[in-house]
Amino acid sequence: MNLKIKGLNTICTHVGELEDKQHKGAVSPLYMSTSYAYEDVDVKRYPRYFNTPNQEGLCKKIAALEHAESALIFGSGMAAVSTSLLAFLGAGDHVVLQQTLYGGTYNLINEEFSKYGIEYSFTSGWNADAFEAEIKANTKVIYIETPSNPLLTITDLEAIAALAKKHGLITMIDNTFASPVNQNPIDFGIDIVIHSATKYMGGHSDICAGAVASTTENMDRIFQLAKNFGGSLSDYTVWLLERSMKTMGIRVKAQNENALAMAIFLDGVEEVEKVYYPGLPTHIDHDI
Ligand SMILES: *Cc1c(COP(=O)(O)O)cnc(C)c1O
Repeated sequence: MNLKIKGLNTICTHVGELEDKQHKGAVSPLYMSTSYAYEDVDVKRYPRYFNTPNQEGLCKKIAALEHAESALIFGSGMAAVSTSLLAFLGAGDHVVLQQTLYGGTYNLINEEFSKYGIEYSFTSGWNADAFEAEIKANTKVIYIETPSNPLLTITDLEAIAALAKKHGLITMIDNTFASPVNQNPIDFGIDIVIHSATKYMGGHSDICAGAVASTTENMDRIFQLAKNFGGSLSDYTVWLLERSMKTMGIRVKAQNENALAMAIFLDGVEEVEKVYYPGLPTHIDHDI
């Protein structure tokens, strides 16, 4: 079955759902068990191995939404960010990070990375030249966030992917603000897509979660670290997140329309000094 040919809302609603064979219920049953019989020595199910039935089901949905081979769900967006970065960076490595980043990510880098001997540079802007200027012999990863939180700067995904290919680097994006509804970075050549599912995926301000999607090879590498760091998500929250994501397509469409209407309105209010919204032609990155 080719998941890419399905409509977005069908993926949101149905991909990865679990069948209730016992009672024929309409939604995925919730399996809260932390222990499972070993049906096969290679499959040891355990919540911290990210492979309970509900975890696996939701990962399929997220992978399909991001046009990725594989995905993992985490206990928070920051667990997804930190585990992804540390899976590809070790002592003596260097990472180039976009200047305009979510505050929590900025704190992770500034407060923790030197303890691990990881070198880092923040760019002076967010076009490809600003990233290229910071690349060194030991650079391994380029990390971007677009649209960025909170000022919605827009980075050119194709230009960053081309730059990374030229230098043999891994690219990671925090795609939280776009959500998979507005932007699928893998289609533009970005390697690893990260989300805080606390925001648009959850959508009801009652879930804290994170997600990462990429190739099976990259996700295996991230999984090895994820298992050791232990940032997995409770199955109950996984189940709530699956419930929430069924409506993500129509929610985000409405949010896009409302945000643009508000931006246009605020742009006309004399007391408002500046409106930051990439949908407005006056936004610095509107063309991208
Ligand atoms: C909120 C947020 C995060 C962190 O997510 P948590 O779920 O709070 O850990 C990371 N990136 C962006 C862009 C965010 O908005």
